[in-house]
Amino acid sequence: MEDVFLAAEARIKSLQRVMNLTDREVDRLLSSEKISHTELEVEGEKIPAWRIIHNNALGPGKGGIRFHPDVSEGEVRSLAFWMALKNSLAGLPYGGGKGGAKFNPKGRSPEFIQKVSRAYVKAFHQVLGPDKDVPAPDVYTNPQVMAWMLDEYEKIIGQHQPAMITGKPIELGGLALRSDSTARGGFIIANELINAMNENKTELTVAIQGFGNAGAHIARMLDQDGLKIIAVSDSRGGIMNENGLDLAEVSETKEREGTVAAYTKGNKISNEELLELKTDILFLAALENQITKENADRIQARYIIELANGPVSPEADEVLWSKKIMVVPDILANSGGVIVSYFEWAQNKVGNLLDEAYLERKLEEMMKLSWSRVLDVFEKKDRAIDLRTSAYVLAVERILSAERLRGNI
Ligand code: NAD
Repeated sequence: MEDVFLAAEARIKSLQRVMNLTDREVDRLLSSEKISHTELEVEGEKIPAWRIIHNNALGPGKGGIRFHPDVSEGEVRSLAFWMALKNSLAGLPYGGGKGGAKFNPKGRSPEFIQKVSRAYVKAFHQVLGPDKDVPAPDVYTNPQVMAWMLDEYEKIIGQHQPAMITGKPIELGGLALRSDSTARGGFIIANELINAMNENKTELTVAIQGFGNAGAHIARMLDQDGLKIIAVSDSRGGIMNENGLDLAEVSETKEREGTVAAYTKGNKISNEELLELKTDILFLAALENQITKENADRIQARYIIELANGPVSPEADEVLWSKKIMVVPDILANSGGVIVSYFEWAQNKVGNLLDEAYLERKLEEMMKLSWSRVLDVFEKKDRAIDLRTSAYVLAVERILSAERLRGNI
């Protein structure tokens, strides 16, 4: 597997040429602000854990916490770096942060997960806080985990502090809109792309890798909007039917059997095969590094939308670009989650009740604005750079401008 932070470095180095960045600016963009690392001790097990703030020129750190056996410092650093760019592109008052605990939560008891969640906050409470660094859910963490973490934090500081974490259950200060906000944002972007490229959505086929929070919700939205979902997958494999899958039945199967691969009205396919299907749009909603130089040449989708963070490697980007496959980058396509997290944080800080219908409109407005700004850069550069580079130009300009105003560069 390619080292994920090398991917971040490669991306900024190639941006250096496009934006004429100085070496000092590049160093600043690539250096992490604060790396906190420890080993959590839970029931005699040692669990390596990290919390990393990548950049905080625009505001406190902001980004999820992941529980996964492959978590590493390089991965958390990369994810924090991407959060810094994503928050900047979305115009949010945040830097980038991310956290992770390296263990497999699958098959563990809720009691064990609760102990890990509380141990995580005990270990890192000094670097967390509404104006320091604000976590949220990520892969294999959820509102219940956020609730345990908030509770532990409030016990330590001796007062209520709901704005220290987002993606909470509604009773503890969360927003209903947060549960499917990443998919909602991705759905808005998919529609903008379809319109901008003059496609007829009822004729488009879709394949989705990953059927968790982001993937399952967007599958439902696209299905209801009339697009044909021909394949979906999760960590245990995939299912395909070129006449279109019955999404309600697939979701029931996932609920009952724990995997979409158990669905019987279609052909079983591997995750590798799903990525290489001939389809109009491929959504990547699982993990990073799914399309690399190993398989990029075999990809047949016309458009790729990244709901996961970092699912396409820099080498793969070059191959896809040469094949005229358009990739909508993660920092644009999956920013709906952090935008709604920002609404939740702002509401918790102000102590004011925000109207959900207003927030839905606001999310749509912010996603569309980001899309049009990225498309504008793309067109102004005569489509000589890809959408990812166009998005990075905007995100990096805002971070560097804040760094300059602070006298850091
Ligand atoms: P999740 O844990 O709810 O779902 C992950 C899904 O991916 C599961 O269905 C899992 O079975 C599947 N999966 C894991 N490994 C796979 C593999 N090798 N091949 C195919 N499927 C695999 O996580 P999520 O919250 O949906 O996050 C998915 C991605 O989206 C991550 O990269 C995450 O960082 C990103 N993301 C999520 C949010 C959010 O709000 N949930 C926001 C921004 C970005």
